[in-house]
Amino acid sequence: MPGFEVFGEEEKQQVLEVFDTGVLFRYEFADQRNGVYKVREFEQAFADYTGAVHAQAVTSGTAALKVALAAMGVGIGDEVITQGFTFVATWEAILDIGALPIFTEVDQTLNMDPADLEKKITEKTRAIIPVHMLGAPARIHEIKAIADRHGIPVLEDTAQAAGARLDGQHLGTFGQCGTFSFDSVKTMTTGEGGMVITNDGEMWRNCSEYHDHGHDHAVNPGGRGGEGRRFVGFNYRMMELQGAMGLAQLAKLDGMCEAQRKHKAVFKEAAAKIAGVGFREILDEAGDSATFFAFMLPDSEQAARVNQVLRDNGAGAINFAENSWHFYPAWEHLLNGKTLCRNGWPFDAHGKRRFIYDPEMLPASSELMSRTLVYQVPVNLSDSQRDTTLHALEQAARL
Ligand SMILES: *Cc1c(COP(=O)(O)O)cnc(C)c1O
Repeated sequence: MPGFEVFGEEEKQQVLEVFDTGVLFRYEFADQRNGVYKVREFEQAFADYTGAVHAQAVTSGTAALKVALAAMGVGIGDEVITQGFTFVATWEAILDIGALPIFTEVDQTLNMDPADLEKKITEKTRAIIPVHMLGAPARIHEIKAIADRHGIPVLEDTAQAAGARLDGQHLGTFGQCGTFSFDSVKTMTTGEGGMVITNDGEMWRNCSEYHDHGHDHAVNPGGRGGEGRRFVGFNYRMMELQGAMGLAQLAKLDGMCEAQRKHKAVFKEAAAKIAGVGFREILDEAGDSATFFAFMLPDSEQAARVNQVLRDNGAGAINFAENSWHFYPAWEHLLNGKTLCRNGWPFDAHGKRRFIYDPEMLPASSELMSRTLVYQVPVNLSDSQRDTTLHALEQAARL
């Protein structure tokens, strides 16, 4: 998964070009910067790469979600539907904008179950956020069709699936917008950073101005003159150093995914010999970014037994049901409404709990996640790591 595996001269060269100008700010300083606009160039390159019309760089994937929700007009009293298997950032952004996160089951894709989505839509639903977890797509066509029928915009959280495609089309370009993360463990990384992509010019203008204190970018693009403001914004601006890193990493993204696909296929062939094993449904194998490899056992006891053998042989897998950052029942701070705010916001308002989260609410996901094992797929797979993993999988196949 992580782009840090391939840091090299390209990243160094890009960053040095920024130091040569001495300008770290993405806007202004026209006299000093010698025409070097790394963040702007990165946005253009990312839009071209994904096939989106517009791209807006921001400080993180979490900020990208928040900026996109703000640009879509989501706020207090609204409901936003996402899936119960995701990173906490997805619903942190929903809460931060003042809306309530509602969670759906995941299906064999390990992503949003469209049938459950349909059940969770109410008159308060203002956005739907399918997450392309572990590098591979949600059933985005079905989700989009349901959303369209109800007139609700779709935001694709593509933080874990940069470089992934469905039938040749980049994930993040199916909905009204898509968001990406370039944090330190993502497939391409700028250390910290994020991006919103969209084909909607008005949506992009909202993102651009909201992320920059509301500066009117139509009147004075990126400048700091006497331009007005259409609304109150915030600061989620990306630095030039991150833009430079992004340019170098983006150029390596397809190569990283290709290497991961190759390594994943090796793991999959070995895992296929385990009795009763099944695999995550990947809607487009050729477009899989292959950052992770997920396989299922018939029940949680068998998954635990297999994982014990894998662990004993130095190649334990992740069971996300045991991981407190990515799965709904383990988010005790959300379930218990823990916040620093003395009046209980955003969980409480006017002395009342706004929404009760029941830890048993997603039984199908709990059952599925309890018997799913996951390997992260490295870009650079050393011979010893490959041999250790293959040997462990062979031992599991003897069970
Ligand atoms: C990493 C991640 C984010 C948040 O990105 P940051 O850049 O770390 O803020 C959002 N959603 C998902 C699914 C992620 O994996």
